Amino acid sequence: MKKILITGGAGFVGSHLCERLLNEGNEVICLDNYFTGAKSNVIKLLDNPYFEMVRHDITESYYAEVDEIYNLACPASPVHYQHNPIKTIKTSVMGAINTLGLAKRVGAKVLQASTSEVYGDPAVHPQPESYWGHVNPIGIRSCYDEGKRCAETLFMDYHIQNNVAIKIIRIFNTYGPHMNPSDGRVVSNFIVQALKGEDITIFGDGMQTRSFQYVDDLVEGMVRMMGSDPSFLGPVNLGNPHEFTMLELAQEVISLTNSKSKIIHMPLPQDDPKQRQPDISLAKEKLNGWEPKIELREGLGKTITYFESLL
Ligand code: NAD
Ligand code: UDP
Repeated sequence: MKKILITGGAGFVGSHLCERLLNEGNEVICLDNYFTGAKSNVIKLLDNPYFEMVRHDITESYYAEVDEIYNLACPASPVHYQHNPIKTIKTSVMGAINTLGLAKRVGAKVLQASTSEVYGDPAVHPQPESYWGHVNPIGIRSCYDEGKRCAETLFMDYHIQNNVAIKIIRIFNTYGPHMNPSDGRVVSNFIVQALKGEDITIFGDGMQTRSFQYVDDLVEGMVRMMGSDPSFLGPVNLGNPHEFTMLELAQEVISLTNSKSKIIHMPLPQDDPKQRQPDISLAKEKLNGWEPKIELREGLGKTITYFESLL
């Protein structure tokens, strides 16, 4: 039995990871300040004596004897990370320093949840890990993008300077049950709007693309990455390479929910990436043939069922 710390464990992805690692017979500490996460995401785990919740802000140091750390604490939706940009960058940078400091002190292996946002509005398509990105350092997305880039730098430097065992994954747009219905991300927005019969808000002309990964596929990749060969540090892309326009996504959600909602267009936010698709050849090679199994239609169906029960 391993002792595993998950920062941001009460969030969307973190709650699925807590459940998976508990089911595999591990002891899990879920650390969260509940900025975007919620106790309700992990409530069914509370009966398990090997599960522990800690209310803590990762910008302050934390100490626990653990074998592995998954560092997920950080708001992920543009609406939430732009709400208090200084806090967002502090969470990424000071959170990384505190997590790496803990890993160094107790000899734990630590995995950083980085993001496809490190590629910015990419000029190379699809994006391989070798691409250094096209990021505005002073725009409205910079607190998140540059915070995550700096965290990657810190992870590499703690490895090189202090020999900390690190892993870096770059997560592409992920969706599924436990997304916060008001966090403003496109999949949750469209589903909630469709179920309520409200207008579906497409930003811009809707021709911008994203590649959507169902959360179970991501969690499988995260666990495989943590258990991968110690010499493989990443960064490695984890995402579903099937790319859709936001218009296609809206039409799919309307069809799956049988909604009468109509599509309206709103202004495109500043620095909104025009396209995004992961090159997952490295993940396939290094993570025992990992690739996403759940396609958009099936994953949307499961997510719609979740939001129906919530609303
Ligand atoms: P989320 O907002 O649901 O989860 C983040 C969690 O971190 C929340 O529970 C929140 O309360 C917690 N948190 C925020 N600031 C904190 C702080 N200072 N101290 C302690 N806890 C704090 O988002 P998510 O989608 O689950 O994302 C999890 C991680 O994966 C994030 O680091 C995010 O950047 C990364 N990621 C997610 C996606 C995606 O599409 N879901 C894509 C790329 C990267
Ligand atoms: N988007 C949209 N309508 C919404 C929310 C988002 O058209 O109600 C668009 C947004 O402009 C972006 C894409 O959907 O082009 C994905 O947005 P999201 O916030 O989910 O993630 P990110 O931009 O970080 O990939």
